Amino acid sequence: MKVFLLAHNHVDSSLLTALSNYISPNGAIWVGKKGDWDTLGVESLIHFDSEDSLSAGKALSEYFSGEQVVIVGLEDLFSGEILSSFSSISCQGLVWGCHSFSKEDALVSLQKYGFGGKVLYTSKLGSGSVQFNSKFLDPGKPNLKQPDVISLDSSSSHSFTLLDFDSIPDEEKDISSSEIVVSGGRGIQGPEGFESLKKLAKKLDAAIGASRAVVDMGWIDYSHQVGQTGKSVMPKLYIAFGISGAVQHRAGMQNSSVIVAINTDRNAPIFDICDYGIVADWKEVLEKWVDS
Ligand SMILES: Cc1cc2nc3c(=O)[nH]c(=O)nc-3n(C[C@H](O)[C@H](O)[C@H](O)COP(=O)(O)OP(=O)(O)OC[C@H]3O[C@@H](n4cnc5c(N)ncnc54)[C@H](O)[C@@H]3O)c2cc1C
Repeated sequence: MKVFLLAHNHVDSSLLTALSNYISPNGAIWVGKKGDWDTLGVESLIHFDSEDSLSAGKALSEYFSGEQVVIVGLEDLFSGEILSSFSSISCQGLVWGCHSFSKEDALVSLQKYGFGGKVLYTSKLGSGSVQFNSKFLDPGKPNLKQPDVISLDSSSSHSFTLLDFDSIPDEEKDISSSEIVVSGGRGIQGPEGFESLKKLAKKLDAAIGASRAVVDMGWIDYSHQVGQTGKSVMPKLYIAFGISGAVQHRAGMQNSSVIVAINTDRNAPIFDICDYGIVADWKEVLEKWVDS
């Protein structure tokens, strides 16, 4: 089994150096125009000179066909597209969000956290791809080396067809990247509750989040769901209106910097993890906040 580092120009080269130092790959793959590849510290490099991530995944799956190869990249979008394309075409695994990596004979052993850090998963992979969480990398000095370069044919375009595309309206901020998230749960008593929450979100320049209970009831779209089976968010401020704080919801928001919870039940579990808890009817608090 061989390990390859996935690199390109869309991420900080110091992170690529750090990842390379950490995993000690057998070689690297560079997708896109030639970049700072002497800093990767590898002897050999496969170059795919195109920004077409899906074609890159396809070309790599053809190049490595029949070989036991693990490709390791960072958690940026471009790497994710290449790695998922490679793994899906070659029918192999993809493990993302890893913070630890070690080689064991014919396998690599990977670790990642789940359930907001409460569970530690260990996966073993003999072939496939890995996305590494750069938060866990120590910056290191580049080990300068000029690699031998093998060029892959990048002239043909990929054979995928985009069947459909749902664009998110501009006025809806994405909960994953917003600094403030105003979230609603079953306690806001109906889909119209979100219209009120949107007034506060507009005032605070916040995104709208939701519990799974209300998404399942069709009060709001799934793209707003926070939690284990929704999105994980880490905003500076998370405001939970009428959300009980079930463990599956907490898994997606408990790493927020400041959590404010509004709930009529003083024993609601959300109060165990919030920084500011208000025992009150959600609407009363919301109206005062919007009018302030
Ligand atoms: C495998 C699995 C995965 C799951 N994934 C997720 C997930 O990703 N995200 C997620 O959120 N859930 C998830 N769930 C569901 C989760 O277990 C809870 O059922 C859900 O989070 C509850 O949503 P809620 O807090 O809105 O509703 P409830 O638990 O019903 O809580 C409503 C809260 O509103 C309060 N309230 C009522 N009236 C008012 C009022 N007038 N003013 C203020 N507060 C009021 C109540 O006191 C209560 O605490 C998952 C469950 C399973 C089994």
